[in-house]
Amino acid sequence: MKNAVAQVSKELNISRAEAELIVAALLEKPRFELYLKGELDEPRRRALKIKIMQLRKGIPLEYLTKKVQFLNYTLNIYPGVFIPRLETEYFVEIIGRLVKKTPVAILEIGTGSGALAIALSSLFPKSSIIATDISPAALSCARQNIKQYNLEKQIKLVRGDMLNAFSTPFDLIVSNPPYIPDSRLKSLPDSVKYFEPILAIAGGKNGIDFTKRMLLQAVKQITPDGMIAVEIDEDAVDPLKDFIQSDLSAKFLFKKDLFNRNRYLFIGNFNNEKSKDSN
Ligand code: SAM
Ligand code: GLN
Repeated sequence: MKNAVAQVSKELNISRAEAELIVAALLEKPRFELYLKGELDEPRRRALKIKIMQLRKGIPLEYLTKKVQFLNYTLNIYPGVFIPRLETEYFVEIIGRLVKKTPVAILEIGTGSGALAIALSSLFPKSSIIATDISPAALSCARQNIKQYNLEKQIKLVRGDMLNAFSTPFDLIVSNPPYIPDSRLKSLPDSVKYFEPILAIAGGKNGIDFTKRMLLQAVKQITPDGMIAVEIDEDAVDPLKDFIQSDLSAKFLFKKDLFNRNRYLFIGNFNNEKSKDSN
């Protein structure tokens, strides 16, 4: 297995330490076992070789291990389902800080693997959560993750287009919608462009079409002291500001991610944090 580490390090042009992490993840073994005596049997050696070739083609490691870490959760993930991102972990943290009143009813739009809904369930253990997505692959992955953490009572999955399936109000509406502008799709990393579902990332001509349509529906279905929280692209701040002022006339706040980019939009009723990253 030592040889496999050396091979991965060479073929992917990465450090030995990085190669150890990858081979250990692919073989589902702790790293030290890679240095125990004994070699892989032939079928496992062949399977590993195929996975290394797939990595070289740009297939995300998460699709090969079928696992992804999101906050404290180890989630199942499959090709066809969006891989949850670091910035969305921080989104959860900011939602927790900005919510004024514990929400009774929460809606998450575009749940993908279920990552956000699952994280919200530990932030608000008493709330009832509906998670919706239009993609059957996403819903089946989310269902598995919700079951794995015994959250079936708290999180209900509904297939639907944005908010079309709902008529009751929610106290908190959360979404990480598709928001990459069409013009930037071509320059995304290969691992995203060729292997992640386009439905999860393409936000239309300027990246805000989906968000605008969703917000127009969401403001009608939020309780008077409720909050809408949306992850956005940093380039969307000005057009979204114009849109909110002209079409929604609601109170709003943009917040920055850990890399100082405006990445989160809050609408409605939220804690007014006097911090350097609000504007
Ligand atoms: N919430 C997950 C996360 O943060 O990791 C996934 C977010 S992914 C960027 C966007 C999700 O929205 C995808 O799972 C996609 O299938 C879903 N989606 C796309 N169009 C939709 C629509 N019209 N209605 C509901 N969900 C939609
Ligand atoms: N942040 C994601 C990426 O860089 C895009 C996520 C989205 O469209 N919601 O691929």
